[in-house]
Amino acid sequence: MRVATVLGNRPQFVKAAAVSGPLRERHEELLIHTGQHHDTQLSAVFFEELGLPAPEYSLEISGGSNSSQLGRMVVALAPLLAELAPDLVLLYGDTNSTLAGALAAADLGTPVAHVEAGMRAFDRSLPEERNRVLTDQLSQLLLCSTRSAAAQLALERTPGRTVVVGDVMVDVAYATRERALARTQTLERFGVGPGGYVLVTAHRAANVDDPAALERLVALLEAVGGNLLMPVHPRTRERLERHGLYARAAKAASLTDPLGYLDFAALLCHARAVLTDSGGVQKEAYLAGVRCVTLRESTEWTETVDAGWNTLVGLDAGAAVAALARPAPAQRPALWGDGHAGAAVVAALEDYAAG
Ligand code: UDP
Repeated sequence: MRVATVLGNRPQFVKAAAVSGPLRERHEELLIHTGQHHDTQLSAVFFEELGLPAPEYSLEISGGSNSSQLGRMVVALAPLLAELAPDLVLLYGDTNSTLAGALAAADLGTPVAHVEAGMRAFDRSLPEERNRVLTDQLSQLLLCSTRSAAAQLALERTPGRTVVVGDVMVDVAYATRERALARTQTLERFGVGPGGYVLVTAHRAANVDDPAALERLVALLEAVGGNLLMPVHPRTRERLERHGLYARAAKAASLTDPLGYLDFAALLCHARAVLTDSGGVQKEAYLAGVRCVTLRESTEWTETVDAGWNTLVGLDAGAAVAALARPAPAQRPALWGDGHAGAAVVAALEDYAAG
């Protein structure tokens, strides 16, 4: 089987790292990097650390508005996929690269497999939610992290075949857990000790694109106080600088460049708590047994909230302070499989190809 994998940003490199290995043992995979995240800190370091093979094709498309980026990606992907003639196009998550891959493949009549299908935050104002819903509609094979995601697809009468495979990010978190826990030199580098800091990430459009929201984010960090360590996404850094908020943020939190997967995992598993608007980080905090406070009004990872490990606070500083003060629950049920989702994805692709 020849599989063309289309990806382009940080969380997708992590997800693909769980699948590319088992896939390439038996099949041909061609990795197409759209270029959505292109710098070393958001891209190359993940290929190096997680053993993801170098992309066979790099489209170098980034920047611009959502619509322009999506359009340029579709225009570049359509002829490339036509030339490569894969049996299947494999997509991850909820980014512009995901939806562009689905649109280009659909136009050629090439089957699409979508990993992380059926996740919903039930908020169509989020670009990620629109990307998820539309990609699911265009996919022949819907590979779900959870049974509730599969049930959601059934409710929406999504036409493709649904298979619950578990969550591929869990594979990577489990495979790197020992290395992350032992990586205490990362904590030393930032002058923090286990349990002595809160790890912060924020880059969602709703929190950083609007200057008023960005100011609320900074005010929230000021209100939380204490030892905050924040690897700053380039998008967030650019907005902080543009709106004259960088100095205030740097006073409220210790700011650093985005980190590679292992350094970030080391800081996450030793943190007192995590404050984030990321999707993947909510999940990783749960896996590491670290309380998460989420800077969003909704989440697609609702199980973490139901289990009491994650609290949604939006940009409400008082709610964030209260949530961070709450103790972690005693129970932490396994939610997304046993760390073998990558192999389950490959098995599902083979079943599909066999008809
Ligand atoms: N991550 C990282 N370094 C950082 C921040 C995040 O390696 O400085 C990893 C994190 O462990 C997770 C992924 O990047 O695996 C999440 O990416 P992001 O928050 O950009 O995307 P989302 O999950 O919100 O789509």
